[in-house]
Amino acid sequence: MQNSSSDATALPARHGARVRIDLPALAANYRTLAAAAGGAETAAAVKGDAYGIGIEPATRTLARAGCRTFFVALPKEGAIVRATAPEATVYVLSGLAPGAAPSLAAAGLRPVLGSMAEIEEWAAWKKAGGEGRAAIHVDTGMNRLGLTLAEAAVLAADPAAVDDLAPALVMSHLACADTPDHPLNALQAERFAALAARFPGRPASLANSAGIHLGAPFRFDLVRPGIALYGGRFGPGPALAPVATVTAPIVQVREVPGGETIGYGAAETLRRPTRAAILSIGYADGYPRAAGGADGRPGAFAFVEGHHVPLIGRVSMDLVAIDVTDVPSARRGVEVELFGPHVAVDAVAEAAGTIGYELLTRLGARLERVYAGGG
Ligand SMILES: *Cc1c(COP(=O)(O)O)cnc(C)c1O
Repeated sequence: MQNSSSDATALPARHGARVRIDLPALAANYRTLAAAAGGAETAAAVKGDAYGIGIEPATRTLARAGCRTFFVALPKEGAIVRATAPEATVYVLSGLAPGAAPSLAAAGLRPVLGSMAEIEEWAAWKKAGGEGRAAIHVDTGMNRLGLTLAEAAVLAADPAAVDDLAPALVMSHLACADTPDHPLNALQAERFAALAARFPGRPASLANSAGIHLGAPFRFDLVRPGIALYGGRFGPGPALAPVATVTAPIVQVREVPGGETIGYGAAETLRRPTRAAILSIGYADGYPRAAGGADGRPGAFAFVEGHHVPLIGRVSMDLVAIDVTDVPSARRGVEVELFGPHVAVDAVAEAAGTIGYELLTRLGARLERVYAGGG
C-alpha cells in the first residue's frame, strides 16, 4: 500500500473520500485482453490520466505486464508515458498540431496523422531531414478524425510517397463496437480491410476494447483497449476486474421523520421514518450530481456493511445521503463503497445518465488516492 497524499500526514485522521486503485487487477485485465487478442499485439489507451486511475502507475504496471505500445490523446500525456516507460512506442491520437513535428519527434512521440494537412506537413518536415515515425488514421465511418477513404486511396496509389512517409501503423476507429449487432461494425471492418491491403507491409489496427470481442476480422495486427483494462463495461458482456474502488466514510447518521424532505431543493420526500447516513463525498470529488435520488426518480446505489442501499436526495458538493434504515451497523466512521467490486461503476453511470468512461475520467483531485500493489 502506498499513499500518494503524504503532504496531508500532519492533519487529523482522514475524513474524506478515497479511491483505491488495484494495480494487480489492471495487470490481470491486460493479460486477459492479450489472451483474447488472438495473436494481435495488445496496446493500451492511457489517455485521460489512464481513465482517471493515474497515468504513471498505470503505464508502469502495463509495461511490466508486457504492454509495448501506448496511445494518448495529447503530447503532454505522451511525455509522461515516455518518461515512465522509456522503451515504449507512444502514439498521440490528437495528431499533429501546426508546427509540432520537431518537438513531437524530439520527445520520441508518434503523431497519428488524421488529415491531408497533417500528412503534408509531416512529409515536408521529413523531406527537410526530420526523423520520426507516425501512424496514418483513416476514417471508416466515425466522421471524427482521419483521412477520407478517397484521400487514403490517393495516398496509397503513390508508393513513393508512402515509402517517404513510412507509416509505422495504419489505423481506424469503430463507432459502435459496444453494440455488436450494429451494421456499421461490419461495414467499417470491410472498408478498413480493403484499405489496409493497399498499404502492404504496414501494421494495421482497428479495435478498441469492444472491438476485440467482435471477432478475428476486427483484430488485425494491433488492438487498442482502454476501458476494459480499467474494469469498465465495454459491450453487452461482463466487465473485467474492477480497478478503481471509491469509498467514503459516514460522517453522521440521523433519524428523519417520514414525510420530511432531505437535501437541497427538498427534492426527495421520505416515505417512511428513515435512518439517513451522510457520507463525506460529493460532486467535488467527481461523484456525479445526477446520480442522486429525487421524488419519482431513483438514484444510484451504494454498498455498506454487506447491503446495497439507495442514495436519497440530491448529491451536494461535499456530501451524499444514503438510506441505512435497514442496516443498523451503519454508524459514524463506517466506510461505504460508492463504486467498485460491489457497485459497478457503470451502474452509477447509468443512474446519472452517462457512461463509466466519464465517471472514471472525472475522479476528482480531492479524492485521496491509494495504490494497492505498488504505484
Ligand atoms: C480511446 C480510444 C481507444 C480506446 O477505447 P476504449 O473504448 O476505451 O477501449 C482506442 N482507439 C482510439 C482511437 C481511441 O480514441
